[in-house]
Amino acid sequence: MSKAFSSEVDAGSRKENASKQKSDYDVAVVGGGLLGSAIAWGLGRLGKSVAVLDEGDITKRASRANFALVWVQSKGLGMPAYTVWTVQASQAWGRLAEELKQQTGLDVSLQQNGGFHLTLGEEEFGQRTELVKRMHNQAGAADYKMEMLSASEVKKSLPLIGPEVSGGSYCPLDGHVNSLRTFRAFHTGFRAFGIDYFPERPVSAISRSGGEFRLTTPKGELRAAKIVLAAGNANQTLAPMVGLYAPMGPTRGQIVVTERTMPFLPHPLTTIRQTDEGTVMIGDSKEDELDDRALKHSISAVMTDRAQRMFPHLSRLNVVRSWAGIRVMPQDGFPIYDQSKTHPGAFVACCHSGVTLASNHAFEIARMVAQGALEPELVGAFSASRFGAAGAANNSGY
Ligand SMILES: Cc1cc2nc3c(=O)[nH]c(=O)nc-3n(C[C@H](O)[C@H](O)[C@H](O)COP(=O)(O)OP(=O)(O)OC[C@H]3O[C@@H](n4cnc5c(N)ncnc54)[C@H](O)[C@@H]3O)c2cc1C
Repeated sequence: MSKAFSSEVDAGSRKENASKQKSDYDVAVVGGGLLGSAIAWGLGRLGKSVAVLDEGDITKRASRANFALVWVQSKGLGMPAYTVWTVQASQAWGRLAEELKQQTGLDVSLQQNGGFHLTLGEEEFGQRTELVKRMHNQAGAADYKMEMLSASEVKKSLPLIGPEVSGGSYCPLDGHVNSLRTFRAFHTGFRAFGIDYFPERPVSAISRSGGEFRLTTPKGELRAAKIVLAAGNANQTLAPMVGLYAPMGPTRGQIVVTERTMPFLPHPLTTIRQTDEGTVMIGDSKEDELDDRALKHSISAVMTDRAQRMFPHLSRLNVVRSWAGIRVMPQDGFPIYDQSKTHPGAFVACCHSGVTLASNHAFEIARMVAQGALEPELVGAFSASRFGAAGAANNSGY
């Protein structure tokens, strides 16, 4: 039987726990989306006993609504440390995909042969050129190796582009993955590592006494020596319970999916990618809204129109699916990784780009949590102390 909640634990294991004076788990991870799953998997990999507490399958999860890019170019303008963190994630993704495959047999279909951001017309080309320059000139930023290409140069890699494409930027570090399969692989890996996953256990209160954390859920209390808050936008509410701060400003995105078609897109784009299964995903909208129940067809129309102008043959395809999702978005757009001064052993982790950063969460954040302290040289820039008392201005850090 797995270790479980105080109200459910059998008398024998309760006695055993009491005699050892040991918490139920080394680490409790709150939130079972991509972030919580990657960190929990990474902790299990290091031999820690881990519980993941999640709300359940009906909740809003960015991890089930995303576009699945492992993306580097254009990330980190205004925070050079984020460029370094993103490049590191991109470089470690291959190792993550390989380890997941070895462990679970699941191929997450990582493709990392570079990605494009295409422009339509000269004005967009000029704006993109300016962005590439600003990224390049940012002191302390990692070298993204991002370059602007003319339409004829782009055509060598993407022969089916239409006449309206004026060119675009290319970054060899960019790629994409099957995000849902990655999610599944982490959860399959949980079983191999003996990690306990508890759905329908929303955490409503957290306290710390006797050197351990007690997490209140509708099905009882769970005790752990350390906790990681990885509850997406809900971190805003949970973090203050343990002296942490996670100001969020979530945004909504829409995605359109076509029927399967012949392989035609050998590299992903910021706004269009062909999945390993042959469908074409069109995405990248951004609205300051939190309701994901209804689709806005006016937004889908703009996205699909641009996609058809980039690749005219897409107009022959039927749309088979479409959805809206709420992003996890710290207020300035950059990740928040922090540890509590008042509640030692409590950590918070939230970010946009949880697909891209999954390798860092699995390998680096998990390692630091296991060691008991975040490393300032690696993630110090992401402390929520950057927001100061006044909070943060909305930005487009991602
Ligand atoms: C449209 C769209 C496109 C995107 N495209 C990309 C992309 O191309 N590349 C990329 O890298 N990223 C992308 N993202 C972002 C990425 O999906 C997110 O960064 C990532 O999924 C965040 O994972 P998470 O685990 O933090 O959040 P979620 O997936 O939201 O998970 C949070 C979990 O916490 C649980 N929870 C909440 N409150 C509690 C509580 N009190 N107790 C217990 N559990 C709780 C929830 O039930 C949920 O399961 C995109 C997102 C969207 C919406």
